[in-house]
Amino acid sequence: MKVYHSTKNCTEMHFVRNEEIMNTETFDVLVVGTGASAKSVAYPCAAKGLRVAVVDNRPFGGTCELRGCDPKKVLVGVTEALALAAQLQGKGVQFSDLHIDWSALMQFKQTFVQGVPESVEKGFKDAGMQTFHGTARFVDNTSVVINEDIKITAKHIAIASGATPVKLGIPGEDYLAISDDFLDLATLPKRIIFIGGGYISFEFAHIARRAGAEVTILHRSNEPLKEFDQDLVAKLIDATRKLGIKVQVNTPVAGIEKTATGFTVHTTANDGSKKLYEADLVVHGAGRVPNLAALDLTTGNVASGKKGVTVNAYLQSTTNPSVYAVGDASAYGLPLTPVAGKEGDIVARNILNGNTAKADFKATPSVVYTIPPLATVGLTEQQAKEQDLDITVKFADSTSWYSSRRINEEVSAYKTIVDKQTNAIVGAHLLGHNAEEVINIFALAIAYRLPPAEVQSALYSYPTKSSDISYLL
Ligand SMILES: Cc1cc2nc3c(=O)[nH]c(=O)nc-3n(C[C@H](O)[C@H](O)[C@H](O)COP(=O)(O)OP(=O)(O)OC[C@H]3O[C@@H](n4cnc5c(N)ncnc54)[C@H](O)[C@@H]3O)c2cc1C
Repeated sequence: MKVYHSTKNCTEMHFVRNEEIMNTETFDVLVVGTGASAKSVAYPCAAKGLRVAVVDNRPFGGTCELRGCDPKKVLVGVTEALALAAQLQGKGVQFSDLHIDWSALMQFKQTFVQGVPESVEKGFKDAGMQTFHGTARFVDNTSVVINEDIKITAKHIAIASGATPVKLGIPGEDYLAISDDFLDLATLPKRIIFIGGGYISFEFAHIARRAGAEVTILHRSNEPLKEFDQDLVAKLIDATRKLGIKVQVNTPVAGIEKTATGFTVHTTANDGSKKLYEADLVVHGAGRVPNLAALDLTTGNVASGKKGVTVNAYLQSTTNPSVYAVGDASAYGLPLTPVAGKEGDIVARNILNGNTAKADFKATPSVVYTIPPLATVGLTEQQAKEQDLDITVKFADSTSWYSSRRINEEVSAYKTIVDKQTNAIVGAHLLGHNAEEVINIFALAIAYRLPPAEVQSALYSYPTKSSDISYLL
């Protein structure tokens, strides 16, 4: 697309090669996306008086708030209540029919989602930003077109376009539901298959099973949840199977077929043996990749790889200094909301002050919100060994401890890893009730290099899960 004369200021009309008339607007900052990372770039820039535009091709608010963490944790909350009551049945809790009312749960979840796009857009506008709806595509180093009908030129462009389910390249792929669909199910199907053994599959499988569905997870290798400590993962898989979820490992999916009653999933195991699985719903849980396809990064001279836009420590594109990338779209950091938010802060500072702030996340906690939850921060034992660290590993089952017995918890366990040379905690892995909260204390300890003895000597309120910490190190 060629613009025949250049822009001086904000809105001007331009004749383009195909004789369409295109509006061009100029800004200091354009943010592509309106999720966690986009907001934390946009707001500080607008607050300092820069002209900021944001654009999104979906309802404003991004994945976490609308289709990810937040609605998911509402569903998890209700299943937690059910699980707690079930494990205390006969221990003071008595019920004859305890079940999840899926439709009421969905209505409750909806109260967290509805109104978000409007309020997010209003927030941007109230802060003086201009908002656009549509798909952005680079047309040169500093410009994008939106929906082919408006051109935006900006001194700085922040790519905050998030992630999308990876293409599996198998026959029948179009029959797959994605996580967005699962979080919006009006009724819960009887038989559900999750393809892929990542955190989203495990979390959704636990929700669906507790809500009454027959659930199967099909994972291609023998290492589901491979970013997590495998000793604790083994215990979580046991608990998952006891709950009645089928976890099939070494079971790559070869294709999906629609039948009169639902779907048949064809699998071919690594030894060549084939198997069929029947389901009413098949959900893609096999991973997400940076959502960059529509942006035409090549035209914008923006290099990218499998993990996202290639950036330097300032989160700036290594090939186009006008461009920064944040959140799931950036190759830096894990695809998690707190990382997205922090990366946005860093980019805002670099836009406002020149490149001064570097991304350096020392400890990123992450959690699988199953019941029990599995939480991790820092290195796994395997990673520490691969780095040739001389380590002390403390790994034990804590199911018999008071903090688990109090709620008749079926399983809890932990593993901590301390570097003997530096006396630093380098990894912590927790399975069990409240693991998602206690892991944050380890994140703090790792980030600020608190020696194990100092972490142990602090006072923790009792009786809490955190008060176990002194025994975990
Ligand atoms: C089911 C699920 C559960 C999750 N649970 C957790 C959790 O418990 N904890 C956690 O930390 N993280 C969780 N995550 C991950 C978390 O949601 C993401 O890391 C986070 O939302 C990323 O934010 P972002 O700003 O990078 O992108 P997003 O919030 O995804 O925003 C990107 C936006 O850009 C838009 N866009 C893309 N391309 C274009 C284009 N060319 N033009 C215009 N707009 C475009 C997209 O439509 C989207 O609205 C979960 C994710 C999913 C899917």
